Amino acid sequence: MKDQSKLGINTTCVHTGEVKDEQFKGAVSPIYMSTSYAFDNVDVKRYPRYYNTPNQEMLCKKIAALEHTEDALIFSSGMAAISTAMFAFLQKGDHVIIQQVIYGGTYNLIVTEFDKYGIEYSFTESDKADDFAPLIKENTKIIYIETPSNPLLGITDMKAIGAIAKENDIITMIDNTFASPINQVPVDFGIDIIIHSATKYMGGHSDISAGAIAASKEHIELIWKTAINLGGNLSDQTVWLLERSLKTLNLRVKEQTRNAQIMAEYLELNPNIDHVYYPGLKSHPQYELAKKQMKGFGAMLSFELKKGIDAMKFQNYLQLIKPSMSLAGLESTTVSPAQTTHALLNEQERIERGIADGLIRFSVGIEESEDLIADIEQAIKKVKR
Ligand code: PLP
Repeated sequence: MKDQSKLGINTTCVHTGEVKDEQFKGAVSPIYMSTSYAFDNVDVKRYPRYYNTPNQEMLCKKIAALEHTEDALIFSSGMAAISTAMFAFLQKGDHVIIQQVIYGGTYNLIVTEFDKYGIEYSFTESDKADDFAPLIKENTKIIYIETPSNPLLGITDMKAIGAIAKENDIITMIDNTFASPINQVPVDFGIDIIIHSATKYMGGHSDISAGAIAASKEHIELIWKTAINLGGNLSDQTVWLLERSLKTLNLRVKEQTRNAQIMAEYLELNPNIDHVYYPGLKSHPQYELAKKQMKGFGAMLSFELKKGIDAMKFQNYLQLIKPSMSLAGLESTTVSPAQTTHALLNEQERIERGIADGLIRFSVGIEESEDLIADIEQAIKKVKR
């Protein structure tokens, strides 16, 4: 058998971290639903909240292999993964630097919870690497980035951030949800802790809530010590579904990425659209950087409808593309960030982050692009009537 780290991406998706069915030789992993395991004369004390049931343990191997890390942990949601990662490294008096435009839920975690625990934080003024260094203080413990970022698809220079952090003995964390490990492998650029909302591409079918962290053994052990206290473990039934989903991760994400490029190019030429945010377009200010650090540009894009075309009405007229809070499923979906994911920000905060009322975030699925284009054309026609 080949060294696991040298397997092809599809082989890794399908085979790494399978739970072998030794008894019946079934083709797929059996599910171990037990919450109670023998504790005498065994090396490992298994318990779901210890993140070490057979299904959990094996799935982490697949995620670690995909992210090129030594180890991983899986959680009940992306936010469980993000909060556990943060609280594992932080204590009273510590300071965190956070990229300005990040997922609204992460922003909310920071601004509503950190003060209670005496944790200081600074947001950068942009996603440019030069904006991070001046914010470093004696007590800075973490630099937290998200690239591509939600919802404006900004690209942060992972290599530059990794280097700044290493020089200053600071841990780096990234939310890698939008790219997925198929389009971006942050440890290869010097980032320490990789976090996912596995509710998105890793799950991919809009039917499970999950999160994941991938990192070195040393970092995962430290995160685990906090994880068992916070208790955001994933049920084994869902672990099994996540394993099944990951088998097609490469196939799905590659096809969605291919489709997104077509849609971005179409939207950019559409006279009813003011601006398209997609790192795969030459007009994207960080196109060259995205090319350097991404294997593919991803399947998320955002666009602004021309003034006078009502964003909510436009979405209601769409027939195939569904308005939806979430993203990254096989089906194409849209959302208005100002009304949903970033609704907790006030108007001034939204303006500062470039989130216009007419902005639409588009998660491109696997449907044929001609069908998606026809759907957009007919919806625009109806709004303009
Ligand atoms: N990170 C990103 C980029 C997201 O888009 C989301 C959810 O939309 C999360 C994290 C949070 O994930 P979850 O909803 O699984 O907690």
